[in-house]
Parts: sequence; C-alpha cells; structure tokens
Amino acid sequence: MSSRTAVVTGGASGIGGAISTRLAADGALVAIFDIDGAAAEAAAIRIENAGGKAIGLTVDVTDRTAIDAGLAEVRARLGRPTVLVNSAGLTLDGPFLDITAAAWSRALAINLTGTFDCCQAVLPDMIEQGWGRIVNISSSSIHSGAAGLAGYVSAKSGVVGLTKVLALEFAKRGITVNTIPPGFIDTPMLRRTEERGFIDVGAQIARTPVGRIGTPADVAATCAFLVSEEAGYLTGQVIGVNGGRNT
Ligand code: NAD
Repeated sequence: MSSRTAVVTGGASGIGGAISTRLAADGALVAIFDIDGAAAEAAAIRIENAGGKAIGLTVDVTDRTAIDAGLAEVRARLGRPTVLVNSAGLTLDGPFLDITAAAWSRALAINLTGTFDCCQAVLPDMIEQGWGRIVNISSSSIHSGAAGLAGYVSAKSGVVGLTKVLALEFAKRGITVNTIPPGFIDTPMLRRTEERGFIDVGAQIARTPVGRIGTPADVAATCAFLVSEEAGYLTGQVIGVNGGRNT
C-alpha cells in the first residue's frame, strides 16, 4: 500500500494496534484515533521508530465533533484518507435484566454509531479520490451470541448490516467496505472480559479447530489484504478470522 493515508480507530491497542503497525509497515501513513490519546501517541512513536509514518490523536468515536476535528488534522498532516479501519470497541454489558438504558445506549454508541460516524466523515475524501477501503471490525459473537453482552452483540450485528449497505451504495465509486468478525483474539479486551467472568479462554481454545487463540497480527494480515489494491473485487463481505470456528 504505497503512501495511502489510513485512519485506524482504536488503533492504540490490541487488534487496532496490530493493524496500525501492519499498515504502516506496508507503507501507509497512519492516523491512530483512540480515546486514550497517550497510548495513541506512544503507538505512533513505536511505528516511527520502526521506520513508518504515524500520528496518534485523542479521538472518542462517540463524539462526532472530535472525529471531524481529528480528520481535519489528518488531512493537514498526512493528506486525505482513503483507508478507514473501525476497530474501536468495548464490551460493557452484564446480565440482560440489569442493563440500564444508559449502558445500552453506550454500547451502541461505541460499537455501532461510532463506526457510522467515522464512515460518514471519511467517505467524502474517498469519493473525491475515486478510491477507498473501509474495514469494520465486528465480532464472531454475531454468529454465536454471547450471554451477558446484549448491547455489544446487537451493535456488532448492526455493523454487519451497515457494512453491506455501504458496500452497495459506494461500489461504483471504487470504494470497498467489508467486515472482519474476529474470533477469540489475545488482546487486553479479551483478558478484561475473561476477568469479568464472561468468557473462559481455555474452553474457547478447546472449541477452536486450529487449537489456539488468535493473535492481533492474524487479524491485521487479513485487514492488510482487504485494504490493498488487489482486493478491489471484494466488497460487502463478512470475513471471519476465527481459527476455523464458525459458530
Ligand atoms: P482493546 O481493548 O485491546 O483495544 C480497543 C481500543 O479501542 C483501545 O485502545 C481503546 O482505548 C479504544 N477505544 C475504546 N473506546 C473508544 C472510543 N470511544 N473511541 C476511540 N477509541 C476507543 O480491544 P481489542 O480486543 O483489540 O478490540 C478491537 C476490536 O475488535 C473491538 O471492536 C472489539 O469489539 C473487536 N473484537 C475483539 C475480539 C477479541 O477477542 N479481542 C473478538 C471479537 C471482536
């Protein structure tokens, strides 16, 4: 990917962190949007120390004003983006009957509306350049469900629908839109979810055909292909990265 400008939300940690690193290694100019601005800056410095080009910005994807301000800075410092990876996400819920209206709204805001807003904010740059790649990180829980994560799973299922609609609306403009629903990937989020008792990582490994948990780099490798030139005929797809486990 030669000197494309890429925005990666949630790009300071875990899957988004690996995607930022991989896209920069492939030659992209990477803007890391993360609610944890210090972590975003640290990730950008690591990329620059490895010879890549990156900036880290404090952007909460639930705040459209912050997204627009972040993009203005990206355009000024790195040029207009043609790649967007929406990886910011959070598991928040709890037993269904205990979920408050505020917690439900928050789960949708981070995991679904944030993706909508980032897509809507970046698409005009892609349209103007006649080329674009969007990858939305959803979750294998769209297939399996996940007890205790009603808001999260509902939001991630919405990301699949949004991905398919955007793929159709922008197909003739050189823009592809796909979603990766990762299986169990070893990140800080997964370990936090395990600590809260919502998943048993050992049991999940036992049910995964390849016999191991995924790495953030596994997801980044698939994402790197989806944002490449060669992937132009691949759009509106749900590409599981899950060690062969489809449920
Ligand atoms: P992570 O916690 O390691 O990283 C998530 C990043 O998103 C963090 O840097 C965090 O600061 C950032 N973030 C959180 N809320 C934000 C907000 N409002 N605005 C901007 N940034 C925000 O988690 P991860 O496991 O790497 O998850 C990345 C994505 O992959 C998420 O969308 C998650 O739902 C999805 N996912 C993860 C797994 C897994 O097993 N780890 C499985 C399926 C899906």
